Amino acid sequence: MKNHEKPVEQKTPAPKFGDMPKEDFRRYGHELIDWIADYFENIEQFPVLAQIEPNWLKNNLPNSAPVTGEDFAKVLADVDKLILPSVTHWNHPNFHGLFSTSTSSVGIFGELLSAAFDMKAMLWRTSPASTELEEVVLDWLRQMMGLNEGLKGIIYDTASVSTLHAIAAAREGLNLSIREIGMSGRDDLPLLRVYTSEQAHSSVEKAVLLLGLGQKSLVKIATDEKFRMIPDKLREAIEEDKTNGYLPFCVVATVGTTSTTSIDPIPEIVPICEENAMWLHVDAAYAGSAAIVPELQSCLKGCERADSLVTNPHKWLFTPFDLSVLYCRHLDLLKRAFSLVPEYLKTNETVTNQMDYGIQLGRRFRSLKLWFIMRYFGQKGMIERIREHCRLAKLLASWIEEAEDWEILAPVPFALVCFRACPQGVKDLDALNEKIMNEINASGEAYISHTKLNGKFTLRVSIGNIRVEERHIEKLWDLLNGKLKEISRKGAKNAKEE
Ligand SMILES: *Cc1c(COP(=O)(O)O)cnc(C)c1O
Repeated sequence: MKNHEKPVEQKTPAPKFGDMPKEDFRRYGHELIDWIADYFENIEQFPVLAQIEPNWLKNNLPNSAPVTGEDFAKVLADVDKLILPSVTHWNHPNFHGLFSTSTSSVGIFGELLSAAFDMKAMLWRTSPASTELEEVVLDWLRQMMGLNEGLKGIIYDTASVSTLHAIAAAREGLNLSIREIGMSGRDDLPLLRVYTSEQAHSSVEKAVLLLGLGQKSLVKIATDEKFRMIPDKLREAIEEDKTNGYLPFCVVATVGTTSTTSIDPIPEIVPICEENAMWLHVDAAYAGSAAIVPELQSCLKGCERADSLVTNPHKWLFTPFDLSVLYCRHLDLLKRAFSLVPEYLKTNETVTNQMDYGIQLGRRFRSLKLWFIMRYFGQKGMIERIREHCRLAKLLASWIEEAEDWEILAPVPFALVCFRACPQGVKDLDALNEKIMNEINASGEAYISHTKLNGKFTLRVSIGNIRVEERHIEKLWDLLNGKLKEISRKGAKNAKEE
């Protein structure tokens, strides 16, 4: 029977008007914090990937909302019964798929308080705390990353949206009146071109789609044996496009690509952009966080001359999703591209009104959680954690290198390891590695993901969880070797039987 079909006695019914009574808010609030504390304490007992079949949750929920309010205790009970089994636990220390991202407890406090304020940061006066704290926190982060002062930050939800705004600002800088008359129906506009590497994140292409530039405007530059954009190929492509009468206007380079965390050679890309008066946007969504570590800061070398750069504290700075930062040298262009002030939002304060810098009107008070994190851990604490993740990744890489049946498939500049099993005598290594991955993921013991490098099915292990310890990496290494042995044994047996 469906959970909600049986009428239950209301213990704490919602009052006729107004919010939950304050005594109940206190009680459930404390209960919920306890619930979260227990969750973190016991998180390793959950399967990393949700083990439900598609539609399981939907089929276990009623078709319409309850007509009368329910006891909140019952709602919480359903979190245990229905929501938890449907959760993929990103905070599990053996979540190594995609990028391992996690939230700190103080980050959760930030979310909680920001929900309580429920601020819509559009005008300074509707959100002085959000507007001003954001500026301060982003300046702190800028300094930690070793970026120069010319770069001013603004928070968006995701790197995809940050990159979209960067390319929009770049386009505005062309002075082609696209804001006023658009791009369609014009024969005075050449084909605008954006360049990125073939390893770039799909968000670059999506930005091009949304800006009405079309996929035809995006040029994917080849990469070298270390998956880095080849500057000479970029130069050639720009020159050829110019000969064809196209208008190259933006390069999106990546520091820490999604597949392998490779680093495009920014110092060599910068002069190409400068010679051609092109905007350089750097996608450091993942690796920007690593730049707070002194010995890794050189990964952003050259970015002092970039026009914009995106980094995602929600990826590797223990910040709950979402918080992406766009640093931009020309916030004026961003404002020119997007500022549109209707009468009812006109004010006469000389202040920053954040609605002027993007497509959104209201913004969440996101800087609060990052401020909490920076103050609680301090620069040193944040650096130590990132450094430890890189150490663990290098450790795993060293085990792989020493093992006969495994091989590393890409350099490990940060905390992502790309590798595969390669035992002798196996013909289809792609199938073998895919099987290893699928079986580990199905076991719920860990989550790993894959990519394709030079046509090879490649396993990816990302290490970035705030709760990860060496024992978790040891466990993963045991799992990988155990699966390889098990699959090889079965394979040999099947071969014999055939
Ligand atoms: C994760 C990632 C993105 C996308 O991040 P969202 O915040 O989810 O949009 C973009 N670029 C790179 C290099 C990434 O690693």
